[in-house]
Amino acid sequence: MNPGLQNWLSDEIDKLKEQHLYKVPRILESPAGGRVRMDGREVVNMSSNNYLGLANHPKVAQAARDAVEKWGVGAGAVRWIGGTMSIHQELEDRLAKFKSVEAVLVFTSGFTANSGCIPAVLADQDVVISDELNHASIIDGVRLSPAKYKKSEGFVYGHKDMGHLEDILSKAQGFSKRMVITDGVFSMDGDIAPLPEIVALAEKYDAFVMVDDAHASGVLGRNGAGTTSHFDLYGRVDIQLGTLSKALGVVGGYIAGSAVLKDWLINRGRPYLFSTAHPPMVAAALIAALDVMENDPEPMRKLWDNTRRWKEMLAANGFDTMGSETPITPVYFGREELAQTAEKMLFEEGVYALAIAFPTVARGKARIRTMPSADHTEEDLNDALKAFVKVRDRLAVGVAPG
Ligand code: PMP
Repeated sequence: MNPGLQNWLSDEIDKLKEQHLYKVPRILESPAGGRVRMDGREVVNMSSNNYLGLANHPKVAQAARDAVEKWGVGAGAVRWIGGTMSIHQELEDRLAKFKSVEAVLVFTSGFTANSGCIPAVLADQDVVISDELNHASIIDGVRLSPAKYKKSEGFVYGHKDMGHLEDILSKAQGFSKRMVITDGVFSMDGDIAPLPEIVALAEKYDAFVMVDDAHASGVLGRNGAGTTSHFDLYGRVDIQLGTLSKALGVVGGYIAGSAVLKDWLINRGRPYLFSTAHPPMVAAALIAALDVMENDPEPMRKLWDNTRRWKEMLAANGFDTMGSETPITPVYFGREELAQTAEKMLFEEGVYALAIAFPTVARGKARIRTMPSADHTEEDLNDALKAFVKVRDRLAVGVAPG
């Protein structure tokens, strides 16, 4: 063991602890449902991205079991080296139809879809223009690219600020390609990107758009096809990213777009080129998840019923949900310590809901991020609300933003 490294690690961890940034995951001892067993107790789970309940859906789980019988458990290699299994191909064809695009390429996660695609489509004479609240995986993908992208150089626009975006686009005409990149649904606030305006501006200034629909997949649009479908922008968004890890219930990410984009990413998308494919049971489970999404409207209806009900219950009890428009429902607490204390007290009251504080969100804008899903019953949401009211009253705080 090298003392230089080991001591550095311990010191840095101590610093995280001092800054209240040190994370210890709780132990989940059951499937990721609406009510779970966690750290030895039963709690209502308000922190899962299992929007539609597909992570533990019987048809999806059965498809995975059947695939193990047929294919075994591993893909064996990177797809272009070991040969790409027909079940992976089938999943991509299904996703392309689902998204109404020419072609889809699957990566092993949404994160690697971003870090694989973004640098691959940019060169050093290009520029990337980003919303300031874009997800970490977009930011990392952008950092891997040779293009100009920095906030300090003026290429990051204020959150959903279309005047600012236009200003940057109008000054970026000297670049070879211009990419505008945004979350479709913002992961910490639950608001929706103004995609029609972004697309119109991109068209005006000869730019192309990439939208990260991780939190719109399975949530917005026809059968959950995402923001491009939600806003009827078919054919006008060059690159769409979807995740297979959240609403679709399994794991993975994909890039949806033209056939030539897929072709290029097969040749230049580094996580695709240098990392082993998903186990075949993952592809099989995802095909089953798509079957459910395309043929059974019930999970999406229940997701949105629960979402509306949860937001109404919170508002009726004086909580501020910070302009959220989707299932991602932040509950405003303000000060960092307040949200962190509330998280612990909520767990004691039988509710698991994570506090999100600086630096993930702005200082003084700490919140408890709640995620209603199709898996929650009326009783789950009633119990969760009771716990929120009790904790708020015990902390004796007003929770309207100052
Ligand atoms: N993009 C966004 C906006 C996300 O919220 C996430 C997940 N937190 C990802 C990408 C990464 O997706 P995955 O979990 O499939 O890696």
